Amino acid sequence: MQRIAFIGTGGTLAAMGADPFDVLDYTATGVHLSAQDLIARSGLNGEIATIDPIEFRSFDSTAVTLDDWMALAALCDDLGSSGAYDGIVVGHGTASMEETAWCLSLVLSDIAIPVVLTGAMRPFSAHSSDGIANLAAACRVAGSPEARKTNVLLVMNGEIHAPRDVAKTDTLAVEAFRAAEFGPLGNVAGNMVRFRREVLRPGPSLQFSAQDFRRFPRVDICYSHIGADSTAINAFVAAGASGLISAGFGPGMTTPAELAALTVAAQAGVTVVQSSRVGAGYVVDSQCHRSRGILSAGSLSPQKARILLGLCLARGDSLDVVKQVFALV
Ligand code: ASP
Repeated sequence: MQRIAFIGTGGTLAAMGADPFDVLDYTATGVHLSAQDLIARSGLNGEIATIDPIEFRSFDSTAVTLDDWMALAALCDDLGSSGAYDGIVVGHGTASMEETAWCLSLVLSDIAIPVVLTGAMRPFSAHSSDGIANLAAACRVAGSPEARKTNVLLVMNGEIHAPRDVAKTDTLAVEAFRAAEFGPLGNVAGNMVRFRREVLRPGPSLQFSAQDFRRFPRVDICYSHIGADSTAINAFVAAGASGLISAGFGPGMTTPAELAALTVAAQAGVTVVQSSRVGAGYVVDSQCHRSRGILSAGSLSPQKARILLGLCLARGDSLDVVKQVFALV
């Protein structure tokens, strides 16, 4: 039987609502099961794998910090190098799960065992909770030999996803996680884990040290909308932003006023990366942006572009290197 380390961080997976029908406002109770209670109550330990619960933090995932990411990466590294486990499952709130998965994938490039993030859209206490099914599927994937080809995966609702591709696309539905451009890597049904395509481990220029989180600078996201002016951009620069991610209209464009402010910021040495708010597709490295020193985020979402840019800046990458890194993802 495979041995899995389960790291609990709270979230809806561990949340206890007021009653079994409380599937909307369950955070009001503020109650999360510990990792140990969650595994004990799931009934999975000894049935589908030997699962060792490891307490980490207990919060809603909107509260995750850079320090948490650094500590979580260090914990995964330690568990990976202990030789005691076949895989690691991280129970995580769904609100920011795609960000934690993406960031771990960039800093755990050579971990020996797979790290699989999972969570739930309905609290553990609900009659219709998806938590135990997701936990079981994540343990199956974490223990599977195919998962070792990459370092970090996200498993929700019977689908295996690459951190690079997946996003939460629905506030409530159990099928909230989708990879709009490329689809899931595979799926899980019962004990059947099937990969349909592979994601390789990140190459050297996409490898960062977890210590880089200590040097992670201020990077803000400016969200475009009709009528958006320079106020937010100027405020972020005044607050000391070293990087700005522009979450632009469909093709990766902003209002004229935003473009003017972003150009001034780029000329002043702020690294500006243009992404799109639409959730899928590539932002062209356009003449308009090139001539202003504004880089393209490719098809990375604004929130994932922010993490990548912050890590590049923490590593001390020049503008040219940042440009090459974004061209690779
Ligand atoms: N509030 C929850 C969180 O920790 C939402 C969830 O887990 O689905 O992100």
